[in-house]
Amino acid sequence: MEMRLDKYLSDLGLASRKELKQIIKSGRVTVNGAAVRPETKVNPETDEVLFDGSRLQWNQFRYFLMDKPTGVLTAAEDKKQKTVIDLLPSELKSLGLFPVGRLDKDTSGLLLLTTDGEYAHQVISPKHHVDKVYYAKVEGKPDATDVEAFRQGIELRDGLHCLPAELQITGPDTCLVTVQEGKYHQVRRMLASRGKPVLELRRLSIGRLKLADNSVPGTVTELSAAEKDLVFE
Ligand code: URA
Repeated sequence: MEMRLDKYLSDLGLASRKELKQIIKSGRVTVNGAAVRPETKVNPETDEVLFDGSRLQWNQFRYFLMDKPTGVLTAAEDKKQKTVIDLLPSELKSLGLFPVGRLDKDTSGLLLLTTDGEYAHQVISPKHHVDKVYYAKVEGKPDATDVEAFRQGIELRDGLHCLPAELQITGPDTCLVTVQEGKYHQVRRMLASRGKPVLELRRLSIGRLKLADNSVPGTVTELSAAEKDLVFE
């Protein structure tokens, strides 16, 4: 599979297409040891591409972890409101990333972004039993009867049944909720059905992939192949 060098470099998210033209012209990039032009064709699997002397690794798919802030939509685009894609630095905007699943506008925390549709499907599907852990601050005091109701499987107010889930009380009005599904507003609706409406919701982990304790909303980091697979462990 061959592609233009400038496309190859912009797919890696190194810089914008315009900046890359300059970078290539200045001679900082070589392919198999030879000088190149933006339109030079490269084979990402076999050619040796060096940038400032370092070999570049081309990956078919890319994986990012965003600490989603509240107030932005989990969508690729929206006419009126800011989306998680709008928050990406400019060199990542052109990669074609999309969010894996959804966090509500008012929910913060761990959100995966990828170009790999099959991976996204596996993370979301309840068949894969991926645990998602949320920190919730609620109105009222969660108690042992709530813990038991979650363990049994909550019935939402509209009659929808949720799979058994875990509720761990961490303070007078705070708890950790572990679910494997991702129904619309699920955690909010589960807690509301117990008379404990959610005041604050933050996703802390998916599988063994966790937000750092001091993670700052808005931060975006690329995941290695091993890190992206932590969600299945
Ligand atoms: N459950 C919710 O209610 N909201 C989210 O954003 C995620 C899970």
